[in-house]
Amino acid sequence: ATGNTNTGPQVRYVRVNTLKISVDKALGLLKDTIEVALDDIVPGLFAIPAHTELHAHPLVSDGSLILQGKSSCIPALALAPETDWVVLDACAAPGNKTIQLAALMNGKGLILACELNEKRIKRLQDTVKLAGASNVKVMHQDFLTLDVNKSPLSQVKAILLDPSCSGSGTVHRRLDHLLPSFASQETGGVDKPRLEKLAKFQKKALQFALSFPAVERVVYSTCSVHQQENEDVVSSVLEFAKSNGFQLGYPLPQWQQRGLPIFDGAEKLLRVEPSQDMDGFFVALFERRLGSAVKAD
Ligand code: SAM
Repeated sequence: ATGNTNTGPQVRYVRVNTLKISVDKALGLLKDTIEVALDDIVPGLFAIPAHTELHAHPLVSDGSLILQGKSSCIPALALAPETDWVVLDACAAPGNKTIQLAALMNGKGLILACELNEKRIKRLQDTVKLAGASNVKVMHQDFLTLDVNKSPLSQVKAILLDPSCSGSGTVHRRLDHLLPSFASQETGGVDKPRLEKLAKFQKKALQFALSFPAVERVVYSTCSVHQQENEDVVSSVLEFAKSNGFQLGYPLPQWQQRGLPIFDGAEKLLRVEPSQDMDGFFVALFERRLGSAVKAD
């Protein structure tokens, strides 16, 4: 399902940053000049006509509105952190999901936003500052080398792992309407060595996320359409996850498109097929309950 219809996007999405403005107030300020529809799945997400130019809008410039695609809002929703938790955003820049988590936590608790790439750190810091996300601490580090037994990492209850990926879900959507045969050409022309390298990193990172001592919820997400970066990555860590007490959660049960049926339980995974209005995306949720005896101090 590539969504080839030879037309461009009909809508674009903009998320209300509730750290700065309420949904009602934002709606009130926009609705006289822009046709706004509230999304029925992501709270505080507005669908507006695709041609609307918002980059210079004062509510965007001051961080009240965030230009963020609908599918990219799903991972943080699936993680559903409690407001007083310590949360780790493992691969955070440019920070759209970091600040969405900050808003879901009402600016409370603590979000550790980890990013390896020095150039992208500045972008992450700017995003956090503009959003008024005062519960975020930016860490310039390699996620894979974090000391999980050291506070506050030892207290992390939820991890969002949105690692580097091929971005094929985004490319599909942008090019589909221009080039109807793109999907098949692309499938034939996959850069296999790059995909293998990415998948290797993704598996390692996901397994590492599942090894944090106090973590109860881990979301793994990509904007890729490739099974190799999605279901295969999840499948490769399932045994390890089970041995650590995790099972697959079932995020957004109302969402129809689910994981490719390559193992029992893959229907719990969530897929967004690329379409005119949405990037392709993949989301997996691992969850476990820890008794107080095993909680980190
Ligand atoms: N979650 C981000 C958002 O929604 O704005 C997008 C994350 S992007 C897909 C992946 C990020 O992971 C990149 O900024 C990349 O530099 C970073 N990254 C890659 N390897 C990493 C590592 N080992 N540790 C921390 N960050 C890493």
